[in-house]
Amino acid sequence: MLQNADLHVHTTLSDGTFSPREVMAYASQIGLDCIAICDHDVVAGIKSAVEVSEKYRVEVIPGIEMTAETHGREVHILGFFVDWQDQAFIERLQQLCQQRKERIYEMVDKLKGVGIRLYPIDVFRASGAGSVGRLHLATVMQQKGYVRTIREAFTKYIGDGKPCYVAKFGLTPEEAIKEIIRAKGIPVLAHPGIMLNDDAIFEYLEYGLRGIEVYHPEHARAKVRHYETLAEKHNLLITGGSDCHGFGKGRILMGSIIVSYGLVEKLKNARR
Ligand code: AMP
Ligand code: FE
Ligand code: FE
Ligand code: ZN
Repeated sequence: MLQNADLHVHTTLSDGTFSPREVMAYASQIGLDCIAICDHDVVAGIKSAVEVSEKYRVEVIPGIEMTAETHGREVHILGFFVDWQDQAFIERLQQLCQQRKERIYEMVDKLKGVGIRLYPIDVFRASGAGSVGRLHLATVMQQKGYVRTIREAFTKYIGDGKPCYVAKFGLTPEEAIKEIIRAKGIPVLAHPGIMLNDDAIFEYLEYGLRGIEVYHPEHARAKVRHYETLAEKHNLLITGGSDCHGFGKGRILMGSIIVSYGLVEKLKNARR
């Protein structure tokens, strides 16, 4: 039987708008057989997804999307099959989530400098449990009427390199890759087409990176071809997913990028 998978989905534990259970219900409804839950710097959503896996007949791959920083820019590293019950890993992630909170205070301060007055508590309330991030901040900016759209919040103020953007993540890409490996996960570079040139990929391979996310909504056809070829040539694992944030990105993206179960099997076989 043909099976299909969406290997990059967010929940309310990071900046998605669907709870883990809602993610599972939706995945089942649209006929997905397997999803990877990859929240930003948090694994706390995996348990409740796994609990309803049988009910919905959707396999859950425990994952993470770790945020690293290099040259003042963000790099996202996916980790597939991480041990989400590993106490040391969980504690490390909690530290990173704490740094994310501190970063919100700094961005709120910068926004004050351009006349946008927000309370950090409102951002934390918008994020709920788990990790807080720019999408929550953008939502509050919109709610308070400072921007008309989430997009405007990013393009004018808090997008990468914009005036009120603060990088300040605790990890380099090398460290993020090593954290994932320590948690028995398979590190894969998320959406390289958004953020990086190929040199960075080769650098990260030396740190233990195993693959690249070839299929992603923000990879145009030419980029997909480029990364397919690169992965084949260098024997890298290939993944793909919708990066669904529920309604967080306007429309529900889940299922818009689907990969065949063969790629999941390759990932499974790559576990050591
Ligand atoms: P953070 O982890 O706090 O740096 O936020 C990164 C997240 O912000 C991404 O995963 C997206 O959810 C969101 N994001 C980044 N850039 C944009 C953008 N231009 N428009 C909408 N959302 C964005
Ligand atoms: Fe996000
Ligand atoms: Fe990402
Ligand atoms: Zn993502």
